[in-house]
Amino acid sequence: ELTETGWNLENSYANLPESFFTTLNLTPVSSPELIILNHSLAEELGLNIEELESKEGIEIFAGNKIPEGAIPLAQAYAGHQFGHFTMLGDGRALLIGEQISPSGKRFDIQLKGSGRTPYSRGGDGRANLGPMLREYIISEAMYGLGIPTTRSLAVVTTGEKVRRETNLPGAILTRVASSHLRIGTFQYVANWGSKEELQILADYAIQRHFPEIEDDENPYLSLLQEVIKKQAELIAKWELVGFIHGVMNTDNMTISGETIDYGPCAFMDSYDPETVFSSIDRRGRYAYQNQPPIAQWNLARFAETLLALLHDDQKEAIKLAEGVLSDFAKLYHQNWLAGMRAKLGVFNEEEKDEALIEELLTIMEKHDLDYTNTFLGLTFDKLEDSNLSDKTEFVQWYERWQKRLDRQQESKSDSYQLMKKSNPALIPRNYRVEEALEAAVKEGDYSVMERFLEVLANPYAHSSKQEEYSIPPEPSDLPYRTFCG
Ligand code: AMP
Ligand code: MG
Ligand code: MG
Repeated sequence: ELTETGWNLENSYANLPESFFTTLNLTPVSSPELIILNHSLAEELGLNIEELESKEGIEIFAGNKIPEGAIPLAQAYAGHQFGHFTMLGDGRALLIGEQISPSGKRFDIQLKGSGRTPYSRGGDGRANLGPMLREYIISEAMYGLGIPTTRSLAVVTTGEKVRRETNLPGAILTRVASSHLRIGTFQYVANWGSKEELQILADYAIQRHFPEIEDDENPYLSLLQEVIKKQAELIAKWELVGFIHGVMNTDNMTISGETIDYGPCAFMDSYDPETVFSSIDRRGRYAYQNQPPIAQWNLARFAETLLALLHDDQKEAIKLAEGVLSDFAKLYHQNWLAGMRAKLGVFNEEEKDEALIEELLTIMEKHDLDYTNTFLGLTFDKLEDSNLSDKTEFVQWYERWQKRLDRQQESKSDSYQLMKKSNPALIPRNYRVEEALEAAVKEGDYSVMERFLEVLANPYAHSSKQEEYSIPPEPSDLPYRTFCG
């Protein structure tokens, strides 16, 4: 009985106008095998782990069978890719439905790598194992870090080869999201749909993510404001842990404020605001330091899609949109500053805090210091290892920081508690991710990845098991490069 798996699916998206998606038959694969299942997420979703691991359970993750109540569909969307507007859509993904969890929350369940769709263009609709496991690892690491994100429920291999430069093992990731509504979804409907359809989409987004604004005087202006607020919080969190998304196209930015689309993303090691990992981002459009302004640019594209709903008079609509768009920079900065204060154990606000933070970052950049480990070193007072105490500028900075801590009511021990909660013991270091993927894909050894996932799940635990994972990479002549999966 499939229902014993705990699937409890609804299909609110399938009830939206037909142009928003294409319902599809499944494309079965030859011999699916379960590689990894996220037990804690399965439980949160109300799914039965034993059933999911059974033959029939795995057939669902493979897209060979649909659970009761599922209406598989590919979503239509558009987007600005590196600044150029184009039609996109789910080219290799299927939304099978929305799982209603025991706590009553609604989650999109999407199979990524499930075969061709009308939006595949030249692509094969498939994914290979390495990138799907990479998304699993990094999205779950983000979740552990307390950063809003889509999550990964399972990865199965298909038993089929995927042709890239070589033949690679095919795989499907089951992605869980509070929705897959993107800025690009709005761009698609605003460009090719009617005003009525646009309003249906906006109302749907409000109902699903911001029900509290439904009765506002201008709910569409409130929607814009809420998305701006969510994204300002999100991007600040990325910057605070050194996460670089790598492909912040408007189709890869959600309305919910969750991180989505783990392609060429990676975490920064030594602090350098110009860091770029993605091999296709040759001009550094999506570099670490550009993420906040790019988010603002994307939000301006979102605002443009809403103009017709904001006001009947276009000039007035633009004025309203510009009024709230200008909040992004301020909101982002507030979130970032609050996060940085916490990373330094600072509870109250002083005007010179920002200068204190900037000076530390300047020292880090100048001396190629590891971003994560510098904060970790400050948290555990272990920076003497890194030769920093020899450097006068750092010694002076350290004294100023200590004096700053003395000027607040909270004790030093309160500060260190706050720092432990705000500075992770580890990030998914690129060489560690590669090592886990290599063992998995080349040797079929998943134990390296499983151990890694275990320590990544709770980065603020500061346990002894995590110490080996905080070691920065050996200096290398070749910069780390990421590729789209
Ligand atoms: P991304 O770069 O992952 O955001 O994907 C951009 C677009 O390319 C989306 O419309 C994807 O669905 C599509 N896409 C990526 N890989 C494939 C593939 N192997 N087959 C078909 N479409 C793909
Ligand atoms: Mg995408
Ligand atoms: Mg530099």
